[in-house]
Amino acid sequence: MGTAYEERRGTLYNYRITLYGNALAWLIHVVFLITFWRLDVGLLAWSNVASVIYYTISFYFVHKRYYRMFFTGLFVEVVYNAVISTIVLGWDANVHYFIIMAAYGVFFMPNVSRLVRIATTGVAMAIYGFLYVNATTGTEPLAPSLEQTLGLFCLLSTIGLIAVLSFIFEGSVVEVTSELERTNDRLHTLASRDGLTGLYNRMTGSAHIETAIERSVAAGRPYAVALADIDHFKAFNERYGHDCGDLVLKHVAATLTWTDAICVRWGGEEFLLFIAGQSEEKVTKTLDELRTRIKSNETIFEGSRLHVTMTFGVSYRDGTTEECVETLVKEADDRLRAGKQAGKDRVITSISS
Ligand code: GH3
Ligand code: MG
Ligand code: MG
Repeated sequence: MGTAYEERRGTLYNYRITLYGNALAWLIHVVFLITFWRLDVGLLAWSNVASVIYYTISFYFVHKRYYRMFFTGLFVEVVYNAVISTIVLGWDANVHYFIIMAAYGVFFMPNVSRLVRIATTGVAMAIYGFLYVNATTGTEPLAPSLEQTLGLFCLLSTIGLIAVLSFIFEGSVVEVTSELERTNDRLHTLASRDGLTGLYNRMTGSAHIETAIERSVAAGRPYAVALADIDHFKAFNERYGHDCGDLVLKHVAATLTWTDAICVRWGGEEFLLFIAGQSEEKVTKTLDELRTRIKSNETIFEGSRLHVTMTFGVSYRDGTTEECVETLVKEADDRLRAGKQAGKDRVITSISS
């Protein structure tokens, strides 16, 4: 109860559906009333007078949007009429089919307990069984052609109503499912990406890199991890404010994605790149080109052109051994620090044995 699905199932609690439903029921019973009056089937004529009076009152329930009341009344009226009509007209008039429709309809009413739904089905089955055994011929059966017409009408309209209810039900399931999928996608993005740069966060990035290492080793292809840190980043924050630092981070992240590497915001102004399938020379060349791009990209904050540079520490493997991410990052970090000490804005790499 109270779930998105329960709320959607309230589709039937809808002004237009109940209004048209009530009008249709009213009209059908007026036609039945006239028909049974003319055929001189007194009991059914009076029973339909009661139904017409009931559905006239029921317009008030619809107007007031007392939907629960409307559907409960509809259920009782349909079952009552189906029982009386089957007893009077006999089994072959097919009016009993409406009991199936009514019991099925209970499953589409929101906020009805499972017990009530099951109990209703049980009651419907009991009534159905009773009628099947006891109301075969009927007390006042119709002439064969009339019986066939009414029988066909009851059969076809029950099939139609079951189809309509099923469509409504399917529609609400599809709507709720796609909403859940959208929410799931949003949550997945929120949980796996860094909010500022849109790159993978550390946790998801590590998992992707682990998988990528396994794949590289399985294929016997080399791989490299680069830890990249923005130089003098604190100065952007201190000089121009935090917004400026954020802008630099976003620009740098956008430039990093120019490569085929898996890009991760490792933390603060540090990024981790995973490059697969390139020789060490090629990795160095790629990263150096990246470094040049970062340096030459224009980052302008409040009219001032910012001079952004980055230092890279690289850890390389030839693809014969599987290495854990922490070891590679540690090695890359040592080289990054060496690069910082050597004057920043450079790529430091070496082959590990
Ligand atoms: P170095 O050249 O040696 O790398 O020095 P640095 O100033 O770049 O590095 P340091 O580690 O001294 O400073 C990093 C700063 O980054 C400190 C922290 O306040 C800031 N920072 C971390 N995350 C964010 C962020 O998301 N946005 C902004 N604007 N600043 C951040
Ligand atoms: Mg830095
Ligand atoms: Mg740093």
